[in-house]
Amino acid sequence: MLGLGLGVGDEVIVPSFTFAATANTVAVCGGTPVFVDVDPETFTIDPAAIEAAITERTVGIQPVHLYGHPAPMDRICAIAAEHGLWVFEDAAQAHGARWQGAQVGTFGQGGMFSLYPTKNMTSGEGGMVACGSGELARQVRLLRNQGMEAQYANEVAGFNNRMTDIHAAIGRVQLGKLAAWTATRQANAAFFDQHLEGVVTPVVREQATHVYHQYTVRIEGASAAERDAFATALREEHQVGCGVYYPTPVHRLATFRTEVDLPVTEMLAAEVLSLPVHPSLSDLDRERVVAAVNTVAKAGA
Ligand SMILES: *Cc1c(COP(=O)(O)O)cnc(C)c1O
Repeated sequence: MLGLGLGVGDEVIVPSFTFAATANTVAVCGGTPVFVDVDPETFTIDPAAIEAAITERTVGIQPVHLYGHPAPMDRICAIAAEHGLWVFEDAAQAHGARWQGAQVGTFGQGGMFSLYPTKNMTSGEGGMVACGSGELARQVRLLRNQGMEAQYANEVAGFNNRMTDIHAAIGRVQLGKLAAWTATRQANAAFFDQHLEGVVTPVVREQATHVYHQYTVRIEGASAAERDAFATALREEHQVGCGVYYPTPVHRLATFRTEVDLPVTEMLAAEVLSLPVHPSLSDLDRERVVAAVNTVAKAGA
């Protein structure tokens, strides 16, 4: 985002229903994240909410392909073009996901993929920046290496964000395995879609290829306490691991506390629960997950 020119006083529209990093990136560049609501079915940023949040200070939009389901990029890019804004995709959870057949990371002026160990592929630690222009790629390279392209001819104030060769070597091997892992995630998700009862299973838009970083269900109508009790029952009575991503919307964190009404975000923060969908699940594991969820859902209904 620094490479795109983001600076003090600039606003970037982001969802609040995401990991804090989405807003942190804007804030550490001196910009102001402006939080908007999401689509209750796909958990991704709501294009109508983007339009309503645009001001004179808006410079960009950062959609998040949350859980591996792409945001509606055709509509987002059309809004951006109409208002002269850039789009930077947070594809941290969405390696290989597609919208209308095109890979995420190729829609915006730029985009990022995380290679943190919990993501669909890893390099141990690190990430990748997708650049829509040679000029942005050059800016990112400069910022990564203390502002240098030619040695000691430093052009901008940059960082040491160089990835080590050791991490890159791990990442290159993982990249070769990504397609097969993704197919297994999708097969696990299809099994859950077919067999889970009593919870709302993930909606996948016709234009989307979902890569299931998370398989996230909704306990419809649940309070956060009821959802947490559901999670505790899965873990303690059935030994099924599960997680809540994310229990506190970013606009309510101490760092970003903002008075803004985001009812869908609040509802989802209370209702969502992510089940194991990783490529190492055995057939027996998948059956255990289904039996456990269906039993807990039935007991709570
Ligand atoms: C993991 C994650 C990030 C941050 O990625 P890092 O590799 O830790 O910098 C950003 N956004 C989302 C949605 C994430 O899940």
